[in-house]
Amino acid sequence: MPKRLLVIGSGTAGLMVANLAARGLDAKVRRHEVEITVLGERDDYVYQPGFLYVAFDLMDPRNLVRPVRDLLHPVVRFVHDRAQRVDADSRTVLTQGGVSLPYDYLVIATGSRISPEEVPGLADDAHWFYTLEGAVKLREALQNLRGGRVAISVGIPHKCPVAPVEFTLMLDAWARTRGLRDQLEITYTYPVARAHTIPAVAEFAEAEFERRDIKLETFFNMESVDTQGHVLHSQEGTDVAYDLLVTVPPHRGDALGGDSSLAGGGNWYPTDRQFLQVQGHDNIFAVGDTTDLPVSKAGSVAHFESEVVSDNLVGLLSDGHRPGHTYAGRAFCFIETGLEEATYISFDFQHPPVVPTPSRSIHFFKQTYNQIHWANLKAVI
Ligand SMILES: Cc1cc2nc3c(=O)[nH]c(=O)nc-3n(C[C@H](O)[C@H](O)[C@H](O)COP(=O)(O)OP(=O)(O)OC[C@H]3O[C@@H](n4cnc5c(N)ncnc54)[C@H](O)[C@@H]3O)c2cc1C
Repeated sequence: MPKRLLVIGSGTAGLMVANLAARGLDAKVRRHEVEITVLGERDDYVYQPGFLYVAFDLMDPRNLVRPVRDLLHPVVRFVHDRAQRVDADSRTVLTQGGVSLPYDYLVIATGSRISPEEVPGLADDAHWFYTLEGAVKLREALQNLRGGRVAISVGIPHKCPVAPVEFTLMLDAWARTRGLRDQLEITYTYPVARAHTIPAVAEFAEAEFERRDIKLETFFNMESVDTQGHVLHSQEGTDVAYDLLVTVPPHRGDALGGDSSLAGGGNWYPTDRQFLQVQGHDNIFAVGDTTDLPVSKAGSVAHFESEVVSDNLVGLLSDGHRPGHTYAGRAFCFIETGLEEATYISFDFQHPPVVPTPSRSIHFFKQTYNQIHWANLKAVI
């Protein structure tokens, strides 16, 4: 009987864990000693960082989507179905299609998703760039924009910690190139006392906002939207009137059909910060956005966590011994600061980030990464 590794989720973390594990266990899989399966509700993979560029008509949405099968190592089995329930006692996952998949080791990589319905009126009147459909719709709204008040309102936690700042700075630069900037009033709202939860990013963003005449409203937690009057209300009692509302809606994890007892509040999985095991379960790991760790929900985090988990899984599935690789909270995010310049942050649990001066070369590196992401996913670079 082969030992079975089952990965739920065919996004960034799920593909990386499966491909990295397959690279280390290739011979064992071919000898039928190990079986690696990815269970994904989608059979296409979507490169989410591209949404930002789609909104400004800088990328073709068709270039962001590829079939999952093309991105998986040949020895990995792919099951296109939705995980419905995890039964940790019998070590099985039940799918929506009624299939029962047994496992010896389970990786939960179900990501995060937006939940705009939690704010009354938001889904009716707001735009976002957090889904491909949303980015395409926002692209249309921006193409039709001739002036007025643009409000960018952020809810936390959300994936890609810097994307709202990037969108705001790109909007400013985009409006200038179109000769529209003087006709626009841009307001950015954020839930805590500063422009970002990471102090160095907040300091950078606040200076840029001031320099570019972008209004900042802090302590602004979205409560409801008056869709007739086009006013966004906050829980703190303040309002922002808008002609175009762009939001980063609240995010939630996937509750595996609401039937799994493993997830905690917000459907995030309580995760050990070093070994990334779901608490109380030695053979279940959580990777990527779905953890409750105090780290950014970012593709880079999914990548660094996947390296740790796959290395340990290769050891466990080879000789039952865990090599003891640990995750140190490593994260890296590019920050587009306009249409031609970018900066970045790099940090871990012990070392907070600094924000270097934006440059064209960092923007070039980001553009390059957008092209080589596919190879990174396949674990061939
Ligand atoms: C606009 C935007 C810009 C971004 N920019 C950056 C950036 O510049 N840098 C960066 O590092 N990150 C960025 N990110 C964040 C990055 O895309 C995510 O953090 C990353 O994709 C997380 O990987 P994941 O595997 O945890 O989740 P995902 O990639 O979202 O994958 C989760 C997968 O699990 C599947 N799934 C969920 N539930 C089930 C179930 N019950 N059964 C089966 N399958 C299921 C989903 O369908 C999905 O395919 C950005 C995100 C957005 C939206």
